[in-house]
Amino acid sequence: MGTTERSLFLGAATLLVCHAAPALAATAPGRRLFPVLDRILSSSAVALTFDDGPGAPTEAFVRLLEQSGAIATFFLVGERVERAPSLALEIVRCGHEVGVHGYRHRNHLRLLPWQIVDDLRRARAVIEDVTGQPTRFFRPPYGVFTLTTWWEARRQGWRPVLWNRWGRDWEPHATPASIAQRIGEPEAGDILLLHDSDAYSAPGSWRKTLAALPLILEQLEAKQLTARSLSELLLDPGFRGRECVASPHAGQRRSLPAVPEAGRQPASTRQREVDSCACW
Ligand SMILES: [Zn+2]
Repeated sequence: MGTTERSLFLGAATLLVCHAAPALAATAPGRRLFPVLDRILSSSAVALTFDDGPGAPTEAFVRLLEQSGAIATFFLVGERVERAPSLALEIVRCGHEVGVHGYRHRNHLRLLPWQIVDDLRRARAVIEDVTGQPTRFFRPPYGVFTLTTWWEARRQGWRPVLWNRWGRDWEPHATPASIAQRIGEPEAGDILLLHDSDAYSAPGSWRKTLAALPLILEQLEAKQLTARSLSELLLDPGFRGRECVASPHAGQRRSLPAVPEAGRQPASTRQREVDSCACW
């Protein structure tokens, strides 16, 4: 290899390493270099987060959270918000928070820098336009950061967020019990990752997550913990908190979407029909 070729090779290798270096944020040493939020200081709550929505199942998740008084942060995919704007709106109407999970659900290691920038800016525009809420948090698809992802997220003023407990609910062989078991026994300040859509995971996986959610909430209750949004836990004064907006469905009674047979439900969520909150 000549000097020119070697220089080109080394240059390309350096660029590649720089491009992919923030992917190390998923590891403990990498987090020191590229800090991400994976736990929060709290004495009484965990941050409950859902990725990959909105989709048809999202409504069932919001209804279930409504019954338990839990509040979550939903990391939305821009193109899915465009397809189901009413579902994205219902999330915030019921007091939940929305974060950015990209416009398309692509691994950023496979995108060029300008494609990443375009993706994130499009995601912000559509999510904020539809929900009317500012976006403060960002979680990249698959939890993978590149240098461009990292820089652009900071430029947008977003706090990069990963998690410290997950249900691995996207896996084809996951069950409600395995999801709850993977989440384990959360402690105050933990950030839990679940998915309210099967758009990028095993078909029908959301049903198992939905069935696991009461088990997880029951576990939190047993430990006297509540599920809150990231902003609530960070005491962000800009977050409006739980504030329902009246909708045409307010005051009506609605049947809950069917929950799969598998998975036990606590008494508090066994009721199949409830009074609708003002959000619906
Ligand atoms: Zn995702």
